[in-house]
Amino acid sequence: MQSPEGALEQAALAGIHCLRIPTPFAVGRVNCYLLEDDPLTLIDTGPNSGKALDELQSQLGEHGHSIDDLELVIVTHQHIDHLGLVEIVVQRSGAEVAALGIASDRLANFDEDAETEDRFAVELMLRNGIPEEVTAALRSVSRSFRAWGSQVTVTKPLADGEVVAFRDRTLQAIHRPGHSPSDTIFWDEERRILIAADHLIAHISSNPLISPPLDGSRERPQALVTYIESMLKTREMPAEIVLSGHGEPITDHVALIDDRIAGHERRKEKIYKLIAEQTRSGYELAQAIWGNVAVTQAFLTLSEVIGHADLLVNEGRVREVDDGEVVRYAAAG
Ligand SMILES: [Zn+2]
Repeated sequence: MQSPEGALEQAALAGIHCLRIPTPFAVGRVNCYLLEDDPLTLIDTGPNSGKALDELQSQLGEHGHSIDDLELVIVTHQHIDHLGLVEIVVQRSGAEVAALGIASDRLANFDEDAETEDRFAVELMLRNGIPEEVTAALRSVSRSFRAWGSQVTVTKPLADGEVVAFRDRTLQAIHRPGHSPSDTIFWDEERRILIAADHLIAHISSNPLISPPLDGSRERPQALVTYIESMLKTREMPAEIVLSGHGEPITDHVALIDDRIAGHERRKEKIYKLIAEQTRSGYELAQAIWGNVAVTQAFLTLSEVIGHADLLVNEGRVREVDDGEVVRYAAAG
């Protein structure tokens, strides 16, 4: 098993360079990848800020390139820390933009969809017992973050499984939803290098955030259930190196995935115990586990709770009790 540094060196020898671009978010820097091939490609861009733009330009410069030279930008998923600079990069370079085809409407209508996403989140929070003033506060935080995003016009929509050909390699685009509905990973089968963005992160468990489905339906997705299915598919891939959207490369993705799934299993049992003690709303469960963090990070913690409760509901151990206003979880039987 090689070290993360060794993995980055091996990737660099294959012409894949990690650029660490600053973000204003708690997650810290985002990893974008310069692919020195034909076309000259950037995978993710970082958020829409002057600081990110300056760093992108100077880090490309360290490899003898400039934003103007880019010919293709690949977008891994819909989160703004990954794609905020795409439009500016495209304006300067004229690069094509490749992303999952079924996400292209979402990416093109950024402002509208950010509103839809916020409304969806507020409805979900109220349904799960989060007080109105908390949802209002979170909504204004979310609005203030929107400036770091941007709309993205996809010129090369990719189908799930489509192979993108470069001069020196091919990358297969594979849809692996869960962390977000549009998560797409890029597989270099010959070199066994997987560019996975936020699908897998070494130092943090990727949050399966509940977000509106890409097909425009209003149904509440089971994000964690989907994410676990996606991870199990990735587990079967013979990757040597997994390049993430944050932090260090992963050199044993099977062990990491097993660890993540065991962690979800433990959290699921903890939540089951709380529900077996007494019927509780998603908000009450989040408070029981995280205390005040359930208020300041209400949507994140609620997504976690609902994700695990979905697993329990699917197993038939927990049922939802809906009083018309708030949904609560009760032990089945
Ligand atoms: Zn993300």
